[in-house]
Amino acid sequence: RVVVVGSANLDLGVAVPHLPAPGETVLGDDVAARPGGKGSNQAVAARRLGVETRFFAAIGDDRFGDDVRAALAAEGVPLDHLTTVEGVATGVALIVVDPEGENTIVVAPGANARLADGALAGLPAALDQGTVLVLQLEIPPATCLAAARHGRAAGARVLLNAAPLPDPVPADMTVLLREVDVLVVNEGEALRLSGSTADWPTLAAALRGLGPDAVVITLGAQGAVHADATGTATHPAYPVDAVDTTGAGDSFVGALAASLAEGLPLAEAVRRGCAAGALATTRMGAQSALPTRPELDSFQNT
Ligand code: ADP
Repeated sequence: RVVVVGSANLDLGVAVPHLPAPGETVLGDDVAARPGGKGSNQAVAARRLGVETRFFAAIGDDRFGDDVRAALAAEGVPLDHLTTVEGVATGVALIVVDPEGENTIVVAPGANARLADGALAGLPAALDQGTVLVLQLEIPPATCLAAARHGRAAGARVLLNAAPLPDPVPADMTVLLREVDVLVVNEGEALRLSGSTADWPTLAAALRGLGPDAVVITLGAQGAVHADATGTATHPAYPVDAVDTTGAGDSFVGALAASLAEGLPLAEAVRRGCAAGALATTRMGAQSALPTRPELDSFQNT
């Protein structure tokens, strides 16, 4: 089973002929409202691969919250662990994209910033030794740490996708990382966390020194590297014609978590993550681009 504790947003996207300068008004296409947020994306990514998935998140008591619920329900993610925060807005990402695919994004965290320890009351009962508990950094750090400690206490595997990683890195990251079994970061996050510019395998191995037993660095079109107690390995990307890289990282993390929950060894789980990340780049959007199990299996077998 995969248990995700994280963010749920409604993404409001508009295509524009050019990004607005400060003070400028630009007319765009019709607005598209889509479910988003790293937590929600990663939960849906794992669920689409056929793995039982639970999702702990906070939404507001507004229309957008209803939209988030409906989208999760349609994916088969149970709504039992969603907390509705009274008088607070659901998290929203305002996304503006120009014809070259350049974007500007404003995130209003809303209820995500109010996901408190109290919302985790049902978490211990959802965890066991076969669970992969998936965390990101779009919820309050104290809640993230509390969730990781619940995971450790239950003997679950705690997977942290340290994104988005604040710059500078907060001092209390060292406390969180000591509760993490599998750390997943992209290139920028790896450089900032390690404060070093060694080659990627060396960096991944060095990041294990911060606490995680296994470290995975995703390298976009270069694939990924991982380090664990047995050493390091590099994983080439699956060659694809990428049209929109939004959601590749979330697709990777969801597939990695689902594969570990199924008992695959880390190296195989990372390869699955690379395949799921690559497939997500071949379609527009974030959640809409996440592959299903049959799609992923046939992609990896050809
Ligand atoms: P993030 O969006 O978090 O920075 P990455 O860009 O590293 O994440 O993408 C996650 C994974 O998705 C990569 O490790 C890689 O396997 C896959 N991926 C991303 N972009 C491409 C691409 N252009 N071609 C093939 N695979 C890709």
